Amino acid sequence: KRRALVAGNWKMNGSHDFNASLVREIVLEIKRFPDIDVLVCPPAPYLDAVGRQLAGSAIQLGAQNLCEQPKPGAFTGEIHGGMLRDVGCAYVIVGHSERRALYAETDARVAQKFAVALACGLTPILCVGETLDEREQHRTEAVIARQLAAVIEDSGIASFKQAVIAYEPVWAIGTGKTATPAQAQEVHAFIRGQLAAADARIANSTRILYGGSVKAENAQSLFNCPDVDGGLIGGASLKADEFVAICAAAQ
Ligand code: 13P
Repeated sequence: KRRALVAGNWKMNGSHDFNASLVREIVLEIKRFPDIDVLVCPPAPYLDAVGRQLAGSAIQLGAQNLCEQPKPGAFTGEIHGGMLRDVGCAYVIVGHSERRALYAETDARVAQKFAVALACGLTPILCVGETLDEREQHRTEAVIARQLAAVIEDSGIASFKQAVIAYEPVWAIGTGKTATPAQAQEVHAFIRGQLAAADARIANSTRILYGGSVKAENAQSLFNCPDVDGGLIGGASLKADEFVAICAAAQ
């Protein structure tokens, strides 16, 4: 069985004070979860401070985005993957649906970011997922196949030895409408099948997280699915007791 990963995507939320108390509470509980990986992804300005607070704990640090440029330079406002490594990040989210939809990130751009993350020694968490429209038009598999293919063609299947996938149906994000375990499992199995078509061993070892309105009350049934290897948690990752309960469900 693959080692579960529970990742908190704080999105554009937090402050020094808020983060410090949230992290303090999670750090106190983390020893209960030796068999899973736990990750928090704060907004970029707080990565350094949160990383310092996490030092010595088993909780890892991740970023929510990075620049697609392979080298640092004159790219005002952007953040290079090497800088994320420098402040202690191990992971970075790429291709979140909010970035695709609100910041016009194309499949090609996401593939560039994925490649830069790997080159910088970060583990990319590649987000894929369909909108409600796409699901209703029975295009879920076609959309996800396209999103995956852009990265597999660019970085190669072997890159998934050091990558994580997150299936996040857009209609389930921040809506309170969670995919049912059966819906999640169906798409997770499809994603693993897409990887297996290129390399069965890599497909078997790649972690595929579910994201979209995961809460303490539904986490267990999702994590019980054979192809669900943990979760990418938005809103519930901002509440220590909820996040800890979700970690307990993955343990
Ligand atoms: P919610 O858990 O708030 O639905 O967000 C999911 C998500 O987008 C995590 O990246």
